[in-house]
Amino acid sequence: MSLIEEAQSQFGLTLTPEQANQFDIYARELADWNTRMNLTAITEPDEVRVRHFLDSLSVVAVMGFDNGDKAVDVGTGAGFPGLPLAIAFPDIHVTLIDATAKKITFLEHIVAECGLTNVQTVHARAEDAGHDSAHRGQYDVVVARAVARLPSLLEYMLPLAKVGGFCIAMKGDSASEELEDSKRALFVLGGEAKPIADVPFPQIDRTHYLVTIEKTQKTPKPYPRKAGTPTRKPIGF
Ligand code: SAH
Repeated sequence: MSLIEEAQSQFGLTLTPEQANQFDIYARELADWNTRMNLTAITEPDEVRVRHFLDSLSVVAVMGFDNGDKAVDVGTGAGFPGLPLAIAFPDIHVTLIDATAKKITFLEHIVAECGLTNVQTVHARAEDAGHDSAHRGQYDVVVARAVARLPSLLEYMLPLAKVGGFCIAMKGDSASEELEDSKRALFVLGGEAKPIADVPFPQIDRTHYLVTIEKTQKTPKPYPRKAGTPTRKPIGF
């Protein structure tokens, strides 16, 4: 099946041929740049389509986007899940944050090649962005995949969300265990967990899990703690 067909049948998402073309450019450039820098272990087109593009788009299983919504992807790497969401939803604003400069260079290249006007890239650590008034408390939706265990990840994500906004962490089989371990972090940072959503991926015979957290309270000033502390000493450990 094509990406257009799979996005429609798995997630009810309608992509235009122009959007499909943007995904083709992204896949081609990812494979090309990956020969010169380490961006991803996955470059084979079918795998990129399923494990990067469709997986990123699966966020829509729990989150509808409204025009004008502000989303941020923390630890975006080569752009996942934020950049596929920016392509699929041209009427939302997407901020991509990563601590590694060369990843930002790659992302800027994709944004230019695809002609995207709804993406901002930020070279920063999440712990620093979380204290920058341009980012703290500014986002309707905060997403992340494969960045840190949830108790640490929530300290990156929740400070960036508006009160009433949502954080969505894309997780594998450890989702419920990580959420169990995050009770203290949720209490301290001002978040409330929603039921974990299962997302089946028959193409790769796997189920992925979306952990959704609503930000219910303002995050207290000391959080996020200084760079490195959230992973070295997760809240509650
Ligand atoms: N989300 C992408 C990349 C995962 S790799 C994907 O799923 O494919 C993790 C990425 O997070 C790396 O690019 C790394 O530079 C970034 N990262 C890790 N800790 C970070 C932090 N504290 N602040 C910002 N970026 C961080």
